Amino acid sequence: MPERTLRACALYPDLMNIYADRGNLLLLQRRCEWRGIGFSLAAAGLGEPLDADGADLYYIGGGQDRDQRLCAQDLAELKREDLHAAANRGAVILAVCGGYQLLGHSYQLGSEILPGAGLVDLRTVRSDGPRLIGNVAIEVELEPGSRRVLAGFENHGGRTSLGAGVSPLGHVIKGHGNDGRSRYEGVRHKNVIGTYLHGPLLPKNSWFADWLIATALGVAQPLLELDDELEDAAHTEARRAAGI
Ligand code: GLN
Repeated sequence: MPERTLRACALYPDLMNIYADRGNLLLLQRRCEWRGIGFSLAAAGLGEPLDADGADLYYIGGGQDRDQRLCAQDLAELKREDLHAAANRGAVILAVCGGYQLLGHSYQLGSEILPGAGLVDLRTVRSDGPRLIGNVAIEVELEPGSRRVLAGFENHGGRTSLGAGVSPLGHVIKGHGNDGRSRYEGVRHKNVIGTYLHGPLLPKNSWFADWLIATALGVAQPLLELDDELEDAAHTEARRAAGI
């Protein structure tokens, strides 16, 4: 039996699951197992309650607008309180693209307004303009004084604005980010993280996966070092694709 286990929970794994969201979870699993850390994966789909104490890391992946419609209502009505409770006790919440949009107050599509979890002060509006698509690189500072690059791929029609005083996850080096103008990308509020970066995000940024694992488990970095030759090559390639 491993001494520690990372308990992950995927919200809407069938609906909010595009661009290798499953790969992000698989990477977390592998990096735990390679270090002798246990890994368990639960799911909370439509109509299912969320266990606010049941996981160290909650994951919401990307989704098409039509799938987001189904999830938004369920999230707001059935899971909102428990997601807030999980965030308040310090659980990591990682939400990608469509999932990121659902962390905020609302996602507006024309005259229709989908509710969000209201976990962070942000709003998203579906633009009539072009989708923001392409390779992207951002600079993040998850720990004071330690600036790192996240590189991935974005594809979204929504434009996200952060409320006053809300911190982005990072600053765009190359790509569009939250709205194509502000140079902000994603959001970070304590251990709640939202980002437009698919990529797949974690296989291309294994250092970020390790930060998530350590933070979710409440253990100090660095975790046991792994042979990251392939992961480093994937990161370098993602940066090259973004043009940095
Ligand atoms: N449906 C959302 C948008 O287009 C999110 C898309 C995604 O998750 N890739 O803005």
